Amino acid sequence: MSYEERLRRARATADEAGLAGLLLPPSPDLVYLTGYDPPPLERLTLLIVRPADDPVLVVPELERPRALDSPMGRRLEVVGWRDGEDPYELVGRMVPAAAKLGVGDRMWASHLLGLQRFLDAGGLVATSTAVPLLRAVKDSDELGLLELAGRGADEAFEEVVGLGFLGTTEAEIGERLAALLREHAHDGVNFTIVGSGPNGASPHHEPTDRRIGPGDPVVLDFGGRVRGYCSDITRTIVIGRPTPEIREVHDIVREAQEAAYRAVRPGVPAEEVDRAARGIIEAAGYGESFIHRTGHGIGLEEHEPPYIVRGNADPLQPGMCFSIEPGIYLEGRFGVRIEDIVAVTDRGAVRFNEAPRELVEVV
Ligand code: ZN
Ligand code: ZN
Ligand code: ZN
Repeated sequence: MSYEERLRRARATADEAGLAGLLLPPSPDLVYLTGYDPPPLERLTLLIVRPADDPVLVVPELERPRALDSPMGRRLEVVGWRDGEDPYELVGRMVPAAAKLGVGDRMWASHLLGLQRFLDAGGLVATSTAVPLLRAVKDSDELGLLELAGRGADEAFEEVVGLGFLGTTEAEIGERLAALLREHAHDGVNFTIVGSGPNGASPHHEPTDRRIGPGDPVVLDFGGRVRGYCSDITRTIVIGRPTPEIREVHDIVREAQEAAYRAVRPGVPAEEVDRAARGIIEAAGYGESFIHRTGHGIGLEEHEPPYIVRGNADPLQPGMCFSIEPGIYLEGRFGVRIEDIVAVTDRGAVRFNEAPRELVEVV
């Protein structure tokens, strides 16, 4: 889909949401709509998308050359402002003051407060609330990159389990995973979670110098970017033979992950997918130990709408991509999580991760 088409859709989406415009700072939204990826600065950069008018990109004058060189630079109205001028007043003249406006989530408070001097503060709403699905349905190019990223993450997992864990530290495994992502299609690494033994009970655990010992389960959750699009996979392995309890918990999580996968169909409310996974874990008596939502959308951001969570009744649509990642966390003991990225198709879900989901025994 071209940037023009995306901008056209964004205008229609804003209109449907009853917004007089979208005010988008440097962010994945700006990249998605224009290909322009400037750093967020104390000087205001803002894309203004209005239903009835052409989009305008407001930039600091000294950033104008770079803005003009960006993919949409010559096809957009680019307005520069100079140091000493008030960019907020400039924006205030481009949108109706007493109107409902969508403000990009990444906008710095200083810019929002500046804009509020010229706009009706009561009419400002976060884009994540007003137009959450702006980037949620992926086109074929985006799906291709997410699939490529998923395959690269699978390959990184399959290689890392062959390298030997016993006696290495979580931090060393984290570094290996980062290097393996770069070897397999990725041009950047977003995060590496390595939670061994009791550390696995903390879902977002940062790798430490803990040495991995015999019998430890290890939660490996990692992801990076392929031309801007993110990967995110979790597998839980065990060093040597698992105890019956570790095997049982792993089986429950795997069954929950499978149930959620099978629940995905166009038209199904997002929360039904959460319920499918949660139902299995609750029935097994571990409901209190599944302490987070089942999944998150993924694309230019690691976490973005749609969220697979209780209370989200938004129906799934073909082209949406999100994680399915149930987990059970037993504080002070161990944790298990299994995560794949899936895409919604007319017939159900397809997985972008196919690395083995059974409990892999590693030396
Ligand atoms: Zn996470
Ligand atoms: Zn993850
Ligand atoms: Zn995730």
